[in-house]
Amino acid sequence: MLLDCASLLLDLSSLRQGSNSGRFELDTVAIAWGIDDVRPAPMKAVLDLDVSFRDQSFICRGRLAAVFETPCARCMAPATFRVTEPIFAVFSMDGSLEEDPSIVKIPRNGRFASLLDALREAVILSLPGLPLCREDCRGLCHVCGADLNEGTCEHTGPGE
Ligand SMILES: [Zn+2]
Ligand SMILES: [Zn+2]
Repeated sequence: MLLDCASLLLDLSSLRQGSNSGRFELDTVAIAWGIDDVRPAPMKAVLDLDVSFRDQSFICRGRLAAVFETPCARCMAPATFRVTEPIFAVFSMDGSLEEDPSIVKIPRNGRFASLLDALREAVILSLPGLPLCREDCRGLCHVCGADLNEGTCEHTGPGE
């Protein structure tokens, strides 16, 4: 099974009927994620992928072990989070299937299917509700904007 680790295009001609599985080290920094305020942490990311190819359909299931960054809700410094949601996508070359928004149609002789949307969705669903750079982040001073993780300012007395 061939997958381009920067464009996330799966080469359908490399799949055999039945079950296909593989492990891929992704170049997450090269991928155009296009998610506001989210970017990949510059570290190794591994995608475990299973593709079930039956008739003219491809059911893709996977797990992405990767770390992303988003601004801390209190101080705006990078807060990291792991992708916890599973990857799932269905592609089909069967033009007679009823319209189903969960099935991505691909041309009958199409060679590639993009997993980008499926991975992007898993990243978005894994975003923490309250991202924090660390659990006890003290945030910024509301008056002068000083980073209270680095010390106090004139608006915060000791012990406050
Ligand atoms: Zn913070
Ligand atoms: Zn202050």
